[in-house]
Amino acid sequence: MIQKILIANRGEIALRIVRACRELGIKTLAVYSEPDVQSLHVQLADEAICIGQAKSSDSYLRADRIISAAEIADVDAIHPGYGFLSENAKFAEQCESCNIKFIGPKSKSIKIMGDKAVARETVAKAGVPTVPGSNGPVDSESEAMKAARSLGYPVIIKAVAGGGGRGMRIAHNDVSFAKEYHVARVEAEKAFGNGSVYLEKYIEQPRHIEFQILGDSHGKIIHLGERDCSVQRRHQKLIEESPSPFLTADLRKKIGKAAIRAAEAAEYENAGTVEFLVDPKGRFYFIEMNTRIQVEHPVTEEVTGIDLIKQQINVANGDKLEFDQGDIKWEKHAIECRINAEDPARNFAPSPGTIGLYYSPGGPGVRVDSHVYSGYTIPPYYDSMIGKLVCSGKTRKEALERTYRALSEFLIRGIKTTIPLHKAIMADPVFIEGKATTSYMEEFLGRTTPDLFS
Ligand code: ADP
Repeated sequence: MIQKILIANRGEIALRIVRACRELGIKTLAVYSEPDVQSLHVQLADEAICIGQAKSSDSYLRADRIISAAEIADVDAIHPGYGFLSENAKFAEQCESCNIKFIGPKSKSIKIMGDKAVARETVAKAGVPTVPGSNGPVDSESEAMKAARSLGYPVIIKAVAGGGGRGMRIAHNDVSFAKEYHVARVEAEKAFGNGSVYLEKYIEQPRHIEFQILGDSHGKIIHLGERDCSVQRRHQKLIEESPSPFLTADLRKKIGKAAIRAAEAAEYENAGTVEFLVDPKGRFYFIEMNTRIQVEHPVTEEVTGIDLIKQQINVANGDKLEFDQGDIKWEKHAIECRINAEDPARNFAPSPGTIGLYYSPGGPGVRVDSHVYSGYTIPPYYDSMIGKLVCSGKTRKEALERTYRALSEFLIRGIKTTIPLHKAIMADPVFIEGKATTSYMEEFLGRTTPDLFS
């Protein structure tokens, strides 16, 4: 039985894990970098150990220090959260070899899904539709151009080790391909230490629709429905909702089945997400599987009433899932807005600094997951996300109205945030009508004066 968990992360997700552990009666150990000493997760965990300086490579990415902390504090398991070491197969292996449970899938599954070219091949073999593309990496320019021509432009060049929307370039013809191919490789090498790339046909006006998977160690895999994450800027998600306003019950069933097949192909256990692009005609294509908890998991929690972090811990404990696919009900609609310390009126420039007044909204159907508070200083070293507003209602209309109302109550003084941008989107007819595709943000920003967001 897991009795004490080390949380190998920071920010809102670290706090989210502390909260789940508290409810389960499990002790927590926070690890933190020097500038994170003020963070709520450090204050609310039962114990805390400083593991290094500000830079992630000196702290949150130091597997050796994290495992030493786990041994000193005698923990049974490590929850990696998202980002940092969460999709690092070697780290998962190291945990296991030190007799510490890694709260996530087996390292073998992480390896398969961590290489996008291998992931595509694996799920395609299991009968899951993938975006037409090169079969495996294309590591010479001439080979790559040949593949691009045979796919037909536009194509998207993607890093096999990619993530976070980085290392992705679109090419519309031979000339732009020659340029973008090199840029993508250099970017991928810099971001992931692996310059290998592959090609996909660029799907026009798609929706990003992903399925939440839950699998136990006894071979049962189910899905908890979808999240529509089409509102993105530079391939990074800003708003997520469930159910998707685009999916019919029939399409949900079909894609849900495909998502389970993809997870089965990787012998998946624990929580994971299978991502698809869905074109305007309802044709769907696998793009990747994230082998960890996602930022947007609360949307699913709100519509299904299932606590995903507790489920992750139970599965790691070896427990059987208590429900079957038929038991999962989607009775609400939920929308999540990512609150980033960025200035949307100034091209989303980072806006770290000290928060003066912080007042978070409340009332029916409102959930705020955040580690910040009045007087908290946002360090400039990490991701700009400082919280998530998740509002739910009986219908999409109610969830939208609630989100707008909650955003109007939300006060974060002293820094710039994405709150005014979210308010403008909640009042935008295209979004209200459920018509947003992955091109929405660019189109919206193009027709809106930035002053509206300041
Ligand atoms: P990452 O792992 O970096 O997040 P993904 O493969 O998940 O990359 O893609 C992120 C986003 O990029 C998608 O949600 C979508 O908006 C866009 N994208 C990716 N592949 C394609 C494609 N083949 N056609 C059109 N858009 C794509």
